[in-house]
Amino acid sequence: MSIRAKLAWTFILLLIFGITAISSYSILFIRNYLLNEGEKQIINDTQWLAITIQNLQSNDHFETNLNEAARTSGYRLAIYDEHGNLFADVPYHRELQAVETLDRNISSLIQSTDSALLFDEADNDLLISFVGLNSVHNPARYMQVSISKEKIYEPIKTIRWIIYTGMFISIGLVLIVSITFSRYISKPILQLESAARDIAGGNTNQSLNLDRKDEFGTLAQSLNRMAEKLRADNLELKRLNQKQAQFFADITHEIRNPLHTIAGSLEMLQLGKLDEKQQKKYLLTAERQTHRINRLFKDLVTLQRYDSDAQFIQKKTFDINQPIQMISELYESEASEKGLNLEVSNASFSVIGDPDKIEQVLENLISNAIKFTNIGTITMNAFEESGNIVVEVKDTGIGISKEHLDRLFDRFYRTDKARSRDKGGTGLGLSVVKSILNAHDSDIHVESDPGTGSRFWFYLEKG
Ligand code: ADP
Repeated sequence: MSIRAKLAWTFILLLIFGITAISSYSILFIRNYLLNEGEKQIINDTQWLAITIQNLQSNDHFETNLNEAARTSGYRLAIYDEHGNLFADVPYHRELQAVETLDRNISSLIQSTDSALLFDEADNDLLISFVGLNSVHNPARYMQVSISKEKIYEPIKTIRWIIYTGMFISIGLVLIVSITFSRYISKPILQLESAARDIAGGNTNQSLNLDRKDEFGTLAQSLNRMAEKLRADNLELKRLNQKQAQFFADITHEIRNPLHTIAGSLEMLQLGKLDEKQQKKYLLTAERQTHRINRLFKDLVTLQRYDSDAQFIQKKTFDINQPIQMISELYESEASEKGLNLEVSNASFSVIGDPDKIEQVLENLISNAIKFTNIGTITMNAFEESGNIVVEVKDTGIGISKEHLDRLFDRFYRTDKARSRDKGGTGLGLSVVKSILNAHDSDIHVESDPGTGSRFWFYLEKG
């Protein structure tokens, strides 16, 4: 059964039950009221009937007058003499005849009081009252005045009809109101259900427009937000998938190139017609390409570990001057071979970080600086700025044009692919730098001017 039908049936049953209960209660209440009023009335009427009967002359008209009194009052009258024997019972009714002789108990009860005695028994269809008569004109001594309860309840027939008509009209209205109301309540539920089904089915593009200020409105907003979030997540997932596909394509490409060169060198060596100098040349080429593949895998493993292992960085306090001096010594000869000056600051600053990883950052930056500088100076500095330690690597090399700066730290991104490969680059050096610094809650910054040089710098927490 649909939610709409359930709601409609609940309202209809509840309201029908309510209306029926109220109607039945009203009818019962009115019956009781009528009976109470009837009791008061019969007592009053008995009093004046008693006065009337007492004054009747015991002659030929007695019966006629008695009948007239019964007819005008609407009661049945039974008259008993002093011995309690019935001598008049009007109007005559064969099935409802009064008792022939009055019960002694009743006659003594009547004698003991001046007012009328009322008998209303639940199982008796009649409402009966007795009164004593004290007539000098006729032998009547006791009078029984009775009326059928049905007669008292008579007005209820009309009232019941009014109540039942009202009840049916109300039930009709209830039906219309219930169906309309259940529609009003269930409409947003059905809309929400259909929207949730759409989202579950992967359709996150539609948005639910429920103009309501109640819980349904809030739920619709949450559902819209959920769809929006899913949409964004899906896009992000797509982007990551593309990135991953690109990443694998790049790796394949990066490995295929040196492998081709190695295969070519080996083929040449296999020919056996080469002199010693040529043999050395091909062996050196093969060795360089092997190193390149090796470096590539090393960088890839490093990057993968930064992506998956938060514990990869082991922070401690150390002097930044140590890795600076170490890297400067390592690259001194390479720089001077290219005729470049290597200027390194000698200031001690205590910093917090992983010294080995910071050393790798400096190594990647210095090796790039040397690679992409043909003339001039490479500078490596550390200094304090606004409570942090700044480490910078500057060169007077070829520089990087603006359009490359945004993507410079992406994996395998190079401003000039051929030149980078010639220089033995893997295209991962700066991505490794960025990953290491990100793991230190820091980042790498760059400013560069093509033809003038580049400056790379990063901040470290003071130790
Ligand atoms: P690679 O292995 O190619 O050096 P990197 O990630 O270290 O890879 O650098 C990416 C690219 O950024 C390089 O190919 C080069 O084009 C550019 N680049 C990096 N450092 C410098 C620099 N100091 N001067 C000019 N270009 C640079």
